[in-house]
Amino acid sequence: MTRVVRDKTEFREACEAARREGRRVGLVPTMGALHAGHLSLVAAAREAADFVAITIFVNPLQFDDPADLANYPKTFDADRAAAADAGVDLIFAPEPGGMYPEGFQTHVRVGALTEPLEGAFRDGHYEGVTTVVTKLFQLAGPCVAFFGRKDYQQWRILARMAHDLDMPIDVRSVPIVREADGLALSSRNVRLDAGARARALSISAGLRAAHDAFAAGERHPERLATLVRETLAPKVDAIDYVAAMDADAFTAPEGPSERLMVLVAAHVAGVRLIDNCVFADDARP
Ligand code: AMP
Repeated sequence: MTRVVRDKTEFREACEAARREGRRVGLVPTMGALHAGHLSLVAAAREAADFVAITIFVNPLQFDDPADLANYPKTFDADRAAAADAGVDLIFAPEPGGMYPEGFQTHVRVGALTEPLEGAFRDGHYEGVTTVVTKLFQLAGPCVAFFGRKDYQQWRILARMAHDLDMPIDVRSVPIVREADGLALSSRNVRLDAGARARALSISAGLRAAHDAFAAGERHPERLATLVRETLAPKVDAIDYVAAMDADAFTAPEGPSERLMVLVAAHVAGVRLIDNCVFADDARP
């Protein structure tokens, strides 16, 4: 039975009760509109824990674009059914006013990791993410928490935050889940019509070309980024960034390296899409 709670005290108590029974708590924070990417986090949580809680909250604090927030898909009934099928024990789906009651004025900010890429293009986004995830971690208590590497920078920031602030949370990541043709699953994909979806495929196609070049021996960061950029530039409406990074340090690479990744953010038909590939680690996109 999958229980749904809206109240944060009930959420806290349910996690505490599970721990009292000797169960390990697995936490999967999401914004809903669940798809197979989210469900892979649930599957990883079920492997690592015996009580799996998923949170569904479209966090207003992390949206820099009011239209994006207004258009964000909301599919709670389908989400509840998918979570139940996936073996989720608890869904925490608070209202914005429950998370941010009047007078709320405390924010959590992580340093350098939040500055490039998404941080440079989405003002206040990561502060919104780190603030809400801190609240979710506080409510869930000691647990193992799962994040997708689709949001690679986000995962790195949250792992850093939990470490820096001595949070009793084991932050783990799972690989990107893609459609058979390469498109990374995203809740925002439902807003792509067939033509836009075909153009969006250029993002994973570009990463695939770079993955192939890396497999063939290319280690030069800018050449790999250029391959990606040239594949998607004719298809998408705008590119926020196509950036090569060192996947471990998460800084701009100094030169050729085994630990290269490329991250992309691009706009297609009014939808902002992100994707990435760590060439040495990830499957061919
Ligand atoms: P969201 O609901 O978009 O905030 O995503 C919730 C969690 O699911 C985040 O940790 C995401 O990184 C993860 N996620 C979203 N899409 C995918 C995907 N295609 N593959 C793996 N994880 C994903």
